[in-house]
Amino acid sequence: MRRKLSKAEREQVLKKCDGHCAYCGCSLEHEHMQVDHVIPLRKGGADELENMLPACKSCNWYKSTMTVDQFRAYLEQIPARLMRDSIPYQVGMRFGIIKQGEPQIKFYFENHKEE
Ligand SMILES: [Zn+2]
Repeated sequence: MRRKLSKAEREQVLKKCDGHCAYCGCSLEHEHMQVDHVIPLRKGGADELENMLPACKSCNWYKSTMTVDQFRAYLEQIPARLMRDSIPYQVGMRFGIIKQGEPQIKFYFENHKEE
C-alpha cells in the first residue's frame, strides 16, 4: 500500500535535490514532481521519505520498477540499441553528426549530496 504524502512531505522530497529531478537533473516545480521510490516498493523498498527522491515524469516513467543500477544500465545501453535499430543513427554516427556522450551515467543526486 502506497502512502499519500502531505504537501510538506512532498516539499521535503523536492528539497533533497534542491528542486531538481534526482536523475536527469532538470528543474522541477512542485506540481510536476513525481516521487520516485529509490528501491522500488515491488522490490521491498520502504514507503518512507528516506527511500524517496524527486523525479520528472520521464525519468519516473523510464525507471519504473528498476533499481538505480538497473536504470543506469538501461540508459547506458541506449547507444548500442540505437546503433542496432536505427539507420539514421548509424548514418549519423558514420558522418560524425551524432556524437556519443559519456558512456557512464552519473545521476544528479549522486553529484548533489545533501548537506
Ligand atoms: Zn528526470
